[in-house]
Amino acid sequence: MTTMTQATVAIDDTPWPAEQNTTLARSLAAPLGGKIPIFIHAFIHDDVTQPQSEIFAEHFLPMVKELEGVTGRRVSVQFIRNQPTYTDFAYMNEDELVTMKKWRDRTHDYKVEKNLPSTRTTKFILLTKSALNDRVAGLAGTGQQAAIASLKSAANVGHEIGHTLDALHENSEVFYRGGWWCESYMIPNPKLLVGNCHTFTEANRARISNFLSNVP
Ligand SMILES: [Zn+2]
Repeated sequence: MTTMTQATVAIDDTPWPAEQNTTLARSLAAPLGGKIPIFIHAFIHDDVTQPQSEIFAEHFLPMVKELEGVTGRRVSVQFIRNQPTYTDFAYMNEDELVTMKKWRDRTHDYKVEKNLPSTRTTKFILLTKSALNDRVAGLAGTGQQAAIASLKSAANVGHEIGHTLDALHENSEVFYRGGWWCESYMIPNPKLLVGNCHTFTEANRARISNFLSNVP
């Protein structure tokens, strides 16, 4: 039976070496009087027809506000459209881990091509119209740089970016706010009748802060 909602998958692979990250991050000039912003490079897949402004308002803005509050950093989103080999990436596959490996390779190429750093504050996310398969609507490596999120739900981008900042499903919660239930970003299997709060729980906020604590 096909369910109406899809889980997202976090790949727990090699933990990011903290030492390496610190060295790389320090080689970047910190903006005067502030911390290095979080840069999200967002590839809009060719199958997404929504205007960029709508995508930003619906899928990014609440998360950007939340992350700016949590980290004290600016969050900068750069949209990339019509870039063959990236925005036409074949993301549908029964084996989502194969998809993730290929997407990670593509983001590596992009980093090299654009001379972008391997820092904890640099993220690459592919935004897709559909899910990867009938089980998975998004993918990310825990504490890593690459992610894929289907725009089928407005919480997917926040969820996957949360993974890349070390947030955990285990710390997610359902809250009762304003007369209705809502789920925090890291709920692994969103329920159709429950809204999303567009916030992380205190436990995940602490993990995200900690993950970036050594980054200038
Ligand atoms: Zn997840």
